[in-house]
Amino acid sequence: MEKIASPKKTKEIVNQYQFKFSKSLGQNFLIDENILMKIIDGAEISKEDHVIEIGPGIGSLTQYIAEKAKSVLAIEIDKTLLPILHKTLEDYDNVEVINHDVLKVDIKKIIEERFKGEKVKVIGNLPYYVTTPIVMKFLEEQVPMTSLTIMIQHEVAQRMEAKPSTKEYGALSVAVQYYCDPKKIVKVPPSVFIPQPKVESTVIRLDVLQQPKVKVTDKKLFFTVVKDAFGKRRKTLLNALSSGNLQAPKAIVKEALQETGIDEKRRGETLSIQEFAELANMFSKKL
Ligand code: SAM
Repeated sequence: MEKIASPKKTKEIVNQYQFKFSKSLGQNFLIDENILMKIIDGAEISKEDHVIEIGPGIGSLTQYIAEKAKSVLAIEIDKTLLPILHKTLEDYDNVEVINHDVLKVDIKKIIEERFKGEKVKVIGNLPYYVTTPIVMKFLEEQVPMTSLTIMIQHEVAQRMEAKPSTKEYGALSVAVQYYCDPKKIVKVPPSVFIPQPKVESTVIRLDVLQQPKVKVTDKKLFFTVVKDAFGKRRKTLLNALSSGNLQAPKAIVKEALQETGIDEKRRGETLSIQEFAELANMFSKKL
């Protein structure tokens, strides 16, 4: 089957439908078959898999997924792409495209209806303006899925897989690694897209853990502690945690740090996820 992603075919489709790229919807289409193969191989899709694709564009990646997976449900916000997708994917009877904002749609309900609650794989060359909200929505809502294989801005991928005491380590690293095991697949230059983005990209796979990495008694409190600790990166933990959203008196913070054996002069960026969990669990006893 002719590939939608070849530069020639993509330009032909864009011209034929007089499609106007929307910068605000993060529309940068892939035109490199090598990179598409890397996404597909990285996602390890088989004929058993139901895949949810976020933002199919003109169907470049969708076509590759359709050839490997049992079925693909693609969610696209831009309704001007619907007639194009209808045509470009007409030979694939295992693809369904729906016109929705992925941030507003009830993904769990869709999976329940379409796939009877079977776990899915999520794939997408994501619109960069909403990468974090999309990923966090899928993780926080505990969508039944085994992995997310996504193309994102390189710096964001680095933050997702960062380890403690590095400059990239932050609240996003803890949030992603609480739910997943991240693995970078390939770094991608701007030249493989039309139009070219200003930044470098990376394909990363987030393998969703059966259970979150650490046991926390109060998830909301855990993430408040994490956000406070990173919110004031230059402050010591004692100061950051006693002046943030946790609203804990300094004496309590001091006590909790002492009882978990964490030096109050350390900064949030040095704490492992395990230490954040121990600290949050201590606060949940004291607050
Ligand atoms: N998958 C195509 C490719 O690789 O060539 C297109 C990727 S492009 C980077 C991102 C796609 O996501 C665009 O088609 C855009 O319209 C769509 N999109 C942007 N925001 C969205 C949202 N909130 N919900 C669903 N799709 C969205």
